[in-house]
Amino acid sequence: MHGEELINDYAMFKDKTHKEGLRDKLIERLRLIEYDEEFVVKYQPKISNIHHDFVGVEALIRWNDDQLGFIPPNQFIPVAEKTGEIHPITIWLIEHVCKQIKEWQVAGFNVGKVAINLSNRTLTEDTFVVDVENIINRYQVDPSLLEFEITESSIIDDEKIALMTVKSLRELGATIALDDFGTGFSSLTYLRKLPIDKMKIDKSFLDGIVEDSLAQQFLADVINLGSTLSLGVVVEGVENEEELNIIGQTSADEIQGFYFGKPMSSDELISWDTSYNEK
Ligand code: C2E
Ligand code: CA
Ligand code: CA
Ligand code: CA
Repeated sequence: MHGEELINDYAMFKDKTHKEGLRDKLIERLRLIEYDEEFVVKYQPKISNIHHDFVGVEALIRWNDDQLGFIPPNQFIPVAEKTGEIHPITIWLIEHVCKQIKEWQVAGFNVGKVAINLSNRTLTEDTFVVDVENIINRYQVDPSLLEFEITESSIIDDEKIALMTVKSLRELGATIALDDFGTGFSSLTYLRKLPIDKMKIDKSFLDGIVEDSLAQQFLADVINLGSTLSLGVVVEGVENEEELNIIGQTSADEIQGFYFGKPMSSDELISWDTSYNEK
């Protein structure tokens, strides 16, 4: 019994030092790397719920580090948020996306809106809106092609400033989507007041939904809530035809998920679009 506890303690200690070691390495690497060399951006298609048209993409960052290998965003974004590195990373990403939009336009490839995830630190950075405006002007990108995905937690931290940033982004002409809806703790009256255009329902709402009629009703009700608030509703994490059929019977506006396409490079997206149109 006592020995077992010691072993568990040791295992926990090892795990903790391993995690701390990795964290330190991540912090160091994030400071040193050239973003252009180590980050790539993948694009996941979004589809309309009614005619299944291709209506937009979400930009998702990928980091393949020379020394540490592939590090998923769920692991390094929280670290970058703590160190403040998330700000230059987000600016790099927005610039990368705007360049990409221009290239697509020159090639006659229409991807609709491009959604970009924003972290809490970004929304309270005083130069953020001006930085975005400068990038948009430099690349001559129509701001209505940009959508910013924010989360409840990213607003709550420093509400006044974050909300001002959100409003300014909308005034520029970009749209705002509330990501991971249903995982936060905001009251519904609070949500009603948020200056947003869309609500993205968290993929956990789809867990086990195919066999569970109560879960289906629940999802439909949450989607209706968004429609009642005059918000566009996006359902993410759609992985199979059964889930697609369930969502098809709701008032959701857009769908995103592996069923239609995984996050892809620009080249992969272009071939995906060609074969999607042939279907
Ligand atoms: P998120 O914003 O909720 O992004 C959706 C995540 O779900 C993506 O994971 C995507 O690959 C994954 N996904 C899409 N369709 C499906 C599906 O059908 N089934 C399942 N199981 N998963 C699906 P990813 O790319 O690993 O990103 C994880 C999280 O990391 C994102 O969650 C977001 O919070 C953050 N993240 C990713 N890229 C960025 C970025 O450029 N900036 C910021 N601030 N955060 C980012
Ligand atoms: Ca997102
Ligand atoms: Ca999400
Ligand atoms: Ca998320």
